[in-house]
Amino acid sequence: MLKVGILAIQGGIEEHEAHLRQLGVDTVQIKKPGQLANCHGIILPGGESTAIGKTLLETSIAQEIIEKSKVGMPIWGTCAGMILLAKEIENQTENYLKLLDITVHRNGYGRQIDSFKTEAIIPAISKEPIPLVFIRAPYVTRVGSDVKVLLQLDGKIVAVQQNNILGTSFHPELTDDLRFHEYFLKMVRKFALEKE
Ligand code: GLN
Repeated sequence: MLKVGILAIQGGIEEHEAHLRQLGVDTVQIKKPGQLANCHGIILPGGESTAIGKTLLETSIAQEIIEKSKVGMPIWGTCAGMILLAKEIENQTENYLKLLDITVHRNGYGRQIDSFKTEAIIPAISKEPIPLVFIRAPYVTRVGSDVKVLLQLDGKIVAVQQNNILGTSFHPELTDDLRFHEYFLKMVRKFALEKE
């Protein structure tokens, strides 16, 4: 059975878990080094990137994620999770895993639209619009040549993919829609098959 780890330091862990379970996948909350060993993918949830990042770098889970990414394991960061993956963070000096060749702007959306809901068509995922929830979200201000832009909203890049690594400014786990999780699971399934 496919098994997906969810980094469980802080943030929207259970919501991702519920979506994955609805899609028939086994999940494991990653709290300690070693737990990623038999996973086929990992999700870095939203939350507070400074808090999650600090704890993450204090453990060897960070190194384990970096090693898994090198062998092609799919990794998806939502919101704070995307900040943890970014190579550069525009408005702060420290950065974390540096696995995704993008620059992000933390809390990029101004105060009056700190949090908002909208919908958009993401061609890689579906021809029908997908509901999008943004909560004090970052957006992407630079993408490397290897990075595919999956969605741009009002001129701002909010979903990207670099090979096995996905980043979204928004939170599909906070909607009833499962299509973004299905897209990630397609990557996970492919990786699991190649590994066998
Ligand atoms: N603003 C948060 C941060 O910078 C991210 C918010 C979220 O994950 N919903 O860490």
